[in-house]
Amino acid sequence: MPQENQNLEGPDPAVTLAQAAGLAEHLQRVGVQWLPAADPDSVTALAEQLRFAANRSREQGSEQVSERTSERTSDQASAPLAVSPPTVPPAAAPTTVAAGSAQPSTAGPTPGFSLQSDSADPAEPYPGPSLVPEMRAAELAKFSEQVAACTRCEILSQCRTKTVFGEGNVAPRVAFFGEGPGREEDLSGRPFVGKAGQLLTKMIQACKFAREDVYIMNTVKCRPPNNRNPEPTEIENCREFFQAQFEILRPEYIVCLGLVSAQALLSTKLSVGRLRGKFHQYFDSKVLVTYHPSYLLRNPAAKKAAWDDLQLMLRDAGLM
Ligand code: URA
Repeated sequence: MPQENQNLEGPDPAVTLAQAAGLAEHLQRVGVQWLPAADPDSVTALAEQLRFAANRSREQGSEQVSERTSERTSDQASAPLAVSPPTVPPAAAPTTVAAGSAQPSTAGPTPGFSLQSDSADPAEPYPGPSLVPEMRAAELAKFSEQVAACTRCEILSQCRTKTVFGEGNVAPRVAFFGEGPGREEDLSGRPFVGKAGQLLTKMIQACKFAREDVYIMNTVKCRPPNNRNPEPTEIENCREFFQAQFEILRPEYIVCLGLVSAQALLSTKLSVGRLRGKFHQYFDSKVLVTYHPSYLLRNPAAKKAAWDDLQLMLRDAGLM
């Protein structure tokens, strides 16, 4: 490796870009059309390294600029790759590959690439800054007031006793995301306090958490009459509120309880059976889909699968 590529403070960004462009060209030449999605943590770590190296070379550059002015003409002839950044051919970027041409690799897991998400796109971070707990509580209270006054859904707003915004730790590792309030929740204004809620509390405790350690919320904030499923328009009317909640809370894990919450959050039509058993991504949060406690009350045989799902999260979180 040429000496100028070695930098004890970290990689030189210009050299790394040139190497990436060279690799992309090479892969294109040899006909590689499919690349696995990069592990978001590795990408963030590399970006940090590059930013650090770029800052260092900018600082060093400004220190040396006055000394170097008189030498510039002779330096230009020998400067290694410290020129305008090379352009990467668009066809080489994994996210630009046409869906029909994607060929899954038959090789085993590649170090540095994540197999846990089924999304080809790397995770985007939540927009805006992460707030301190006091500000999170204040922001959530603001949205809770908006929800309490909301009349976007004519039927739901007329039928409800209380809106059910959500409750719990405002800086949680885990947020549980249900469907919508039932009768007990509508009366009390609190999520998951009826029979299904009692089972959810047991599931939370089986994870060695208390209810207060996690955040609990629903997709829609008003009880649909006769506990029917929320209509798509009702879910869309509430989307702004649940999205705001996640943006404020930024949980490490979101556990979608049942089909309604999973399909709403992940914008998918897939079944719980297809979605469970692996992680999905919603901004910085890892999303796990499992059966709704009401379904588990009706189908106790599915409890084992739900526990398997929660164990997947606990192992990933280093909690078992
Ligand atoms: N079912 C839900 O989805 N949410 C609740 O809060 C209660 C029951």
